[in-house]
Amino acid sequence: MKIHEYQAKSLLGKHGVPVPEGQVVNTQNEAMDVAEKLGGNVVVKAQVHAGGRGKAGGVKLVGSSSEAAQVCNELLNSNLVTIQTGSDGVPVDKVLIEEIIDVKKELYVAFTIDGVKKKVVAIVSEFGGMEIEEVAENNPDKVLTLELDSSLGASPYKTRKLASFLNVDVKQIRPLANVISSLYDVFVSNDCSLVEINPLVITGDGRVLAADAKITIDDDALFRHPNLSEFYDPAQEDPFEKQAAKFGISYVKLDGDIGCLVNGAGLAMATMDVTRSSGASPANFLDVGGGADESKVSEALKIILLDEKVKKIFINIFGGILKCDIVARGILDASRNIDREFPELVVRMLGTNFDEGREILMKSGLNISLVNDLKEAADSLKSD
Ligand code: GDP
Ligand code: MN
Repeated sequence: MKIHEYQAKSLLGKHGVPVPEGQVVNTQNEAMDVAEKLGGNVVVKAQVHAGGRGKAGGVKLVGSSSEAAQVCNELLNSNLVTIQTGSDGVPVDKVLIEEIIDVKKELYVAFTIDGVKKKVVAIVSEFGGMEIEEVAENNPDKVLTLELDSSLGASPYKTRKLASFLNVDVKQIRPLANVISSLYDVFVSNDCSLVEINPLVITGDGRVLAADAKITIDDDALFRHPNLSEFYDPAQEDPFEKQAAKFGISYVKLDGDIGCLVNGAGLAMATMDVTRSSGASPANFLDVGGGADESKVSEALKIILLDEKVKKIFINIFGGILKCDIVARGILDASRNIDREFPELVVRMLGTNFDEGREILMKSGLNISLVNDLKEAADSLKSD
């Protein structure tokens, strides 16, 4: 679960990480009041579950409370499109008004989990700010990644090593190491999968402040943190993904036009690779799961077809617990209950009851290419 910057900053505050003074608002009048209290010179920040706001006009420095109100009004009535959102953007329902801080240096500090190493890693760079992706790409030696031992956590020698890498004044190393250590506490005690502070600012008068904060909580750990579930903001979720979640379907919307329906997350990833290798582009990731039944398959197809861009559907099923004939019946059910015209289906079906499944599909009258392997599937997906 992603949370908003203002929520993330409240967690940071609880763990002793300094953040700029500020307040979240959802009307321009409130924006005016808060900006007034902060002295008029403020930064106005759209609260959305996406990065890249700065470059997209979602973070603005203003010089008066009336200007703050005006910018707030513009943001609240817009969808913010950033490099991390789809082309429709995400709605801005809240805006954070903060004191302007005197930025001397912008650092990058993040904690996340390296799934391959099965460890928490700390990632830092002295070149934080809006160009961090370019730094990582072009100057990887300016980024330090350290693995942390789960029993020792952010031990003092590691936090000192991280802080020392950041090329700050020697007086800053200890306070910086302390902030890094507190950020690790935030990460672990809230079961985060990401805590990313970009920028962590060194101010002109030598203070360390988290000017931005992106935090993601591990969904599977949310039951341990009932207090965090109030941070859930459904307005930021993709409507198709919300619909899928209702039926227990793992669905991630993508930008292409080939709908994908698969059982198993690994097979779903491979299916997207095959789709791409054919020169086509997947419209989604979708895993119906091993224990799906006919109605779940049908719902999954309906969700895929909510996306108007979808012009073909690639169904890749390895029948095990989920039998192929069940999938075929689910497809038939969806085809009878959908308003729009059913697009061509490319179906690769193997495993339990595959012959029965194929027979149902062949008799269905639907526009179906039954393929035997992934090579044939890729050929059928090539744009005609
Ligand atoms: P992001 O683009 O979504 O990551 O949003 P950020 O919160 O990181 O804001 C983008 C940029 O705005 C930061 O990298 C800073 O350079 C700048 N910024 C944000 N807050 C302040 C501030 O209080 N003072 C100054 N001078 N710059 C700020
Ligand atoms: Mn940022």
